[in-house]
Amino acid sequence: MKKYILALDQGTTSSRAIIFGEDGTPVHTVQREFTQYFPKNGWVEHDAMEILSTELGAARECMLYIGADASDVSCIGITNQRETVVMWDRQTGEPVYHAIVWQCRRTAEYCDELLREGMGEVIKSKTGLLPDAYFSATKIKWLLDNIEGIRGRAERGEILVGTVDTWLLWNLTSGKVFATDVTNASRTMLYNIHKMEWDDELLRYFGIPRCILPKVMPSSGIFGCADAKFFGSEIPISGIAGDQQSALFGQGCIETGDVKNTYGTGAFLLMNTGNIPVASRSGLLTTVAWQIGSETTYALEGSVFVCGSVIQWLRDELKIIDSASETEKIAKSVSSTDGVYLVPAFVGLGAPYWDPYARGALLGVSRGTSRAHIVRAALEGIAFETCDVLSSMENDVGVRIHSLAVDGGASANNFLMQTQADFAGVKILRPVCTESTALGAAMLAALGVGIYSSPSEIAAHHKIEREFAPEITTEARELALSGWHDAVSRVLKR
Ligand code: ADP
Repeated sequence: MKKYILALDQGTTSSRAIIFGEDGTPVHTVQREFTQYFPKNGWVEHDAMEILSTELGAARECMLYIGADASDVSCIGITNQRETVVMWDRQTGEPVYHAIVWQCRRTAEYCDELLREGMGEVIKSKTGLLPDAYFSATKIKWLLDNIEGIRGRAERGEILVGTVDTWLLWNLTSGKVFATDVTNASRTMLYNIHKMEWDDELLRYFGIPRCILPKVMPSSGIFGCADAKFFGSEIPISGIAGDQQSALFGQGCIETGDVKNTYGTGAFLLMNTGNIPVASRSGLLTTVAWQIGSETTYALEGSVFVCGSVIQWLRDELKIIDSASETEKIAKSVSSTDGVYLVPAFVGLGAPYWDPYARGALLGVSRGTSRAHIVRAALEGIAFETCDVLSSMENDVGVRIHSLAVDGGASANNFLMQTQADFAGVKILRPVCTESTALGAAMLAALGVGIYSSPSEIAAHHKIEREFAPEITTEARELALSGWHDAVSRVLKR
């Protein structure tokens, strides 16, 4: 009897393996950190071989710990850091260069150039993305332009390139399967999310030969089998999605209008927009949420650059707290911030302001301002930033949001969750299993091998640990938000 699903959660700083029961209950997790390379200012790289070895090591150790062998595991799901690019030799499997990580800014100037050439609208209308160095296209172009002899080898079909899911899949299948899923493809800036195919015009523009790109497949369904040499016998790999899309699925956000927010170092909000790729007027991204069978579901995505990292700043730089978890108690020790606002624009502001030059500020400080007021203002700042993205989403779809599914490290903070419910006027739903990212991949895989017959059957298993309902009046909410918007207006530089 098979009883487990193995999720490979390949993140930016660590490779994790999580084994779930078939009902989605996490059984065991193993995490392995790997090296971050910063060869130049703003450049970020990973060793693709280390990504692979840490991920495989974590998976084997996880199975060993619970005494499972391949025959106990029904299927494997993969979720991954998105946009990061690996290029390798088709024959030897050797990477031609380090993986270029999504955070890497090496192609920022080139992106300014393509905007000057008027490519912004073309890219947005085809891919749903706003041209930026984050996305894979310009990283692939950089490799083709800068690694000696690579362009010729690519044109001769000797080179393969892909996002991290593709790299893991190709290796796990011992080079048999060269594919990616639609969610990862949708982050490359080369994929037409309306036609659901690599876009020839963009491939030509970036000078990327089509033959080096993987086949694009639905997020759920059998991609191939992990070679017997890895786990003792073959295991089907039947679900793949980029980390944020996977979390949306893992949160059971399968209906149009469902929204999730992951409160991690930064915050990532995704709204399920059903089968419509909604074009944003507020600078949100349009992306593929998943494809199951022939049906594509789209999402609107907005991110907040600084979320949990403002709490790290209180701890490591201001040194006014010892741990992130104590912020809840400290914030509750005062009844309000007493008019203090902390705008955590440490690296500029994203949606809906889009001001890269804005910087953080602490406003409304008086002689009586205490540590507790500042801590409370920091948590409220996180909630306010989320409110701004939620209202952008509401404007884009023209529908009011009623609830928000939450996960990520800072979602453990009850004060933050209650404040979020109050300021946004929405119900906050915190699930029992906060491993939404890995759970999403596990459930896409389970669906892919037929353990479940539909997303709604999976969502029925989704259990809420706690709900936070709004407790303040509309007037109080409007007052708080207007104070925040006034504070933001003072940090904007353009
Ligand atoms: P990531 O996946 O981005 O590394 P996590 O989801 O692990 O992030 O969340 C870690 C972040 O959450 C850290 O920035 C930390 O400061 C913040 N955090 C963790 N616990 C709490 C808490 N109880 N209250 C507020 N912030 C918290």
